[in-house]
Amino acid sequence: MVKKFSTPRGTNDIYPPQALLWQELETQARRVFVRYGYNEIRTPIFEESELFVRSVGQTSDIVQKQMLHLSPQGATRAQGGAGLQLSLRPEGTAPIVRAYIQDNMDKKEQLSKLFYIGAMFRGERPQKGRLRQFHQIGVEAIGPDSCSPYLDAEVIGLCLEFLKNIQVPMYQLKLNTLGTVEDKQNLSKKLRQQLKPFKSELCPDCQNRFDRNVFRILDCKQKACRQIVAKLKLDYTHLCEASREYYRKVKECLDSLNIRFEEDPGMVRGLDYYTQTVFEVCSPALGSQDALGAGGRYDNLVAQLGGPQADAVGFALGLERILLAREEPQTPSGQSLDVFLVSLDEPSLAGNFKLAQTLRQQDIVVDMSFKPASVKSQMRTANKKKARFVVIVGQEEQRQGIVTLKDMQGGHQQQIAVDHCEQAIKRILNK
Ligand code: AMP
Repeated sequence: MVKKFSTPRGTNDIYPPQALLWQELETQARRVFVRYGYNEIRTPIFEESELFVRSVGQTSDIVQKQMLHLSPQGATRAQGGAGLQLSLRPEGTAPIVRAYIQDNMDKKEQLSKLFYIGAMFRGERPQKGRLRQFHQIGVEAIGPDSCSPYLDAEVIGLCLEFLKNIQVPMYQLKLNTLGTVEDKQNLSKKLRQQLKPFKSELCPDCQNRFDRNVFRILDCKQKACRQIVAKLKLDYTHLCEASREYYRKVKECLDSLNIRFEEDPGMVRGLDYYTQTVFEVCSPALGSQDALGAGGRYDNLVAQLGGPQADAVGFALGLERILLAREEPQTPSGQSLDVFLVSLDEPSLAGNFKLAQTLRQQDIVVDMSFKPASVKSQMRTANKKKARFVVIVGQEEQRQGIVTLKDMQGGHQQQIAVDHCEQAIKRILNK
């Protein structure tokens, strides 16, 4: 028995009809993002592992459990022998900040507005809405002294505008603020105080998180931990006056755009780099993995990664989850054809082969059979491919120097000279 291969666990093939849906999402994303002044950036799919450890955070789930490392040999080879540990990118923000610093973008423009579309990789236990290779669309706005509640609201507005444009039926915006680094430390302290009496009842992971990253306890899915978290008193008393004012202004900006949101003081996000505004967009259609996307402000990350002082805000949306939430009623049937060429014998096939090239050069979508066969079977193929017209060439047409052109919608059939064929098809297709 010859071994048959299939996709590795947690990855999917995207077959041609579904790929059309993906293209549509990507086209809409580009259209909306460009309208807000964002430009596309593409970065490698692997980076030095340390980039993610120093940005996402040593204690985050991503770094603790989900990084997909290249094997030592692979990493060494990819690095040209330097032997640094490389990993497939688990998220897009850190690579973009790395690129921002590497390209000295702060010297070129006051605010770099960037977007990306691409595959991300996390070694998770696969389930619905949770894959090992998934795709994100995201934006990042980075610039020295660019921290502004207006920009936060623009980024959130842009995210929702995209979801509206691609007709995601229902979604909900959850909003919170973490405040400055000092405010976050105050919040950690308060959380530890409140959680301390219950520490022994937390799951083993959360007992570890208690000292290392107490915020992560708020995201734990274990029932016991959720019951304890539900009892916590979460408010905004950990914030300094300036953070409070900033948050008030963000909400005011969202109100001015008529954006409805729900405040969720327990939504703290799992990545270390966030400060001030954080948000999540959820869809009730998604079940337990209900986040379509999430984002927030990260004003210290650029400097933390060795760059200049630069503030930043961004988000990432998961494409697979968007497609799940849209619940496409049916997959599209694929690209339709302008013309299908039917060849009844070898000389006709040779003639049609050249005709196909001429028509395609005129921007006409053409396909054909590559072996002579019966009219019936080739017409069946043309129908399946939803061809608008069929050109039939056999011995008789060859002898007379004509082709038979059949309109597949009305069924009308006419014979035209081969030399006029290209012009006639262009005319009827309005090309
Ligand atoms: P995160 O970077 O974890 O905040 O994720 C942002 C968005 O990416 C999520 O809301 C999901 O839509 C998507 N996402 C994250 N991890 C996965 C995954 N393992 N599988 C599919 N989508 C994911």
